[in-house]
Amino acid sequence: MPELPEVETIKRGLNKVIVGKTITGFERRDMKVIQFEPEEVIGSEITEIERRAKILIFHLSRAVISTPQELRVEKSSDHIKISPPPTRMSGSRDGKVLLTHLKMTGQLIWEENAGETAFELKKIRPSTELRTATQRVAGGHPSPDWMAKLPNAYTRAIFRFDDNSVLFFNDLRRFGYMKLYKTADLDLLTELKKLGPDALSDKLTVEYLMRKASKIPNRKIKQFITDQEIISGVGNIYVDEALFYAKISPLRPVREIKLIEWQRIKGSIVKALELGLKYGGSSEDTYVDAFGNQGTMNDHTKVYRHTGAPCPDGCSGTIKRIVVGGRGTHFCPACQI
Ligand SMILES: [Zn+2]
Repeated sequence: MPELPEVETIKRGLNKVIVGKTITGFERRDMKVIQFEPEEVIGSEITEIERRAKILIFHLSRAVISTPQELRVEKSSDHIKISPPPTRMSGSRDGKVLLTHLKMTGQLIWEENAGETAFELKKIRPSTELRTATQRVAGGHPSPDWMAKLPNAYTRAIFRFDDNSVLFFNDLRRFGYMKLYKTADLDLLTELKKLGPDALSDKLTVEYLMRKASKIPNRKIKQFITDQEIISGVGNIYVDEALFYAKISPLRPVREIKLIEWQRIKGSIVKALELGLKYGGSSEDTYVDAFGNQGTMNDHTKVYRHTGAPCPDGCSGTIKRIVVGGRGTHFCPACQI
């Protein structure tokens, strides 16, 4: 399952290639995953892609004056265009937001030239500096589909843009979704309203953490940090790493944590996530970032999945794996107290 750094990486990649483009075609291939009518987005311009926790929010502005019936769609083998051309209306007065959650197996794959074969992609894929060769931008669940010909059997939606580029939403297990709302309703949506401040936002302060902790004094710190209603976006790998940096045992009840320790914990959460961003994130096994680069965060973890190894800080302890709140937890019992 993609974690915060992975989703942030996809967001940054897509922001580089689809912002400012107008959706000229939308194909809904799955009614469960795609929970809106294609006509509701056709003719809209993508103005920004935002992330809240692990939810991607595509901001759409109404770019069409014509009613959908007046749009004439011309299809040929390699491109689609609509006429009359969209006329942009000012501002986001009646803008919409497209919420996308990748859940377990969702993928977003943008393709500069629709319908490229795996062979063609491999041929043009340079061995280095993929960032300058943006023929494909992909993120989410890692699979050979990163470089395969699309669409495939797991493609749930296809966006077509005014420059003939295409965005595929694939989802093998169909737990992911795309939902459409009015921009004005964004902050009222239950799936966003319940989320605590983003782990990388300024709203996450030590004072906030202590106030929350005072309400649930017996909660173990690991469960406290991974509770999305308290802090949004800290997954299992990053909490284990953060608590190791902070030298705090994952089993400590929050009532015992002192001000100076909260300061260390807060800084360590940010440090762990920023390291994840730097190395392109890390899903459970392999991860390929928005430009096809393999994530290497797993090579930089201190305790996560290092059970039995000597403590990397040289304290003479050994990394142990226990289960906290149902999640595998890695820590050094000697120096994390
Ligand atoms: Zn140690």
